Amino acid sequence: MKKAANAVTNTPGAATCAWRPAWVTHRTVDHASITPGGSGAPPAAGTKPRFVRRPVPWPRWHIHLPMSVRRISVGGTGCWQTSSMVQAPTDPFEGVDQPWRSAFLLAWEAFQTRSIPVGSVLVNAAGEVVRSGRNRSNDRTGPVGHVAGSYIAHAEINTLATLPQGDYNDHTLYTTLEPCFLCTAALRHSHVGVVRFAAPDPMWRGIERLPELNDQMARRWTRREGPLDGHLQTWAALLPLVSSVERGVQSVQQQHAATMPEVLSLAREWAGARADRLRALDLDSAMMQAWPMLTSGR
Ligand SMILES: [Zn+2]
Repeated sequence: MKKAANAVTNTPGAATCAWRPAWVTHRTVDHASITPGGSGAPPAAGTKPRFVRRPVPWPRWHIHLPMSVRRISVGGTGCWQTSSMVQAPTDPFEGVDQPWRSAFLLAWEAFQTRSIPVGSVLVNAAGEVVRSGRNRSNDRTGPVGHVAGSYIAHAEINTLATLPQGDYNDHTLYTTLEPCFLCTAALRHSHVGVVRFAAPDPMWRGIERLPELNDQMARRWTRREGPLDGHLQTWAALLPLVSSVERGVQSVQQQHAATMPEVLSLAREWAGARADRLRALDLDSAMMQAWPMLTSGR
């Protein structure tokens, strides 16, 4: 394996292969160095790749490394890939604040339990996570002090519920979805200085104008920052929308049809069997598998 990995060479034409996730550095392999006998020929049909799971230092990324070669023809380029040695994934969370990964992990956990997939973490001025929580609307239980199995079991509520009274103006709450009215009020009541959200929520459009309407809200208003750019935003918006489609929530779908038709279309494709297949995976594996669908819009 090590020998084969060392044989990986960069191939100029590989850049035309569009199948890979956005964060994958695509490299092709000298087949002669990795096929039995060193013939350089493609593997026999039906050759089954073997997979090796390798942990990568934080932010953790588990890479599946098939030992044999498969051929994927992309746009007639006939790129040879071993999604094994060819994929050298970097972190999809590269370039964003570290707490985002924790928030996305919690959202994924909620997705797996069929609660509304939103996760959040609260960090102090030193960047340390002091509280975390996720939506538990479809969960029967949760950590002590968290709300479960109700309409108000929101991620931000569960993150803030056990926070002692105090001044948290220098704290930042990271949440995967723009806070709703309930959570916006909870942030204000908790005296948290800043909230950062990954995806906008058109259901609560205009809520940022609350301080204009009410002095009490204005007095300790939690500053809102967001959304994130790129596929992380799409991912954060998509999961709750898939959940809405699966639960048949028409009001949410109608709102998104007007504001995020592409994401809604993707959510309708994913809802059901495809989402269930992803639910069986951990976040890293699910992102790895789903990213090409995000980039192609399918
Ligand atoms: Zn909320």
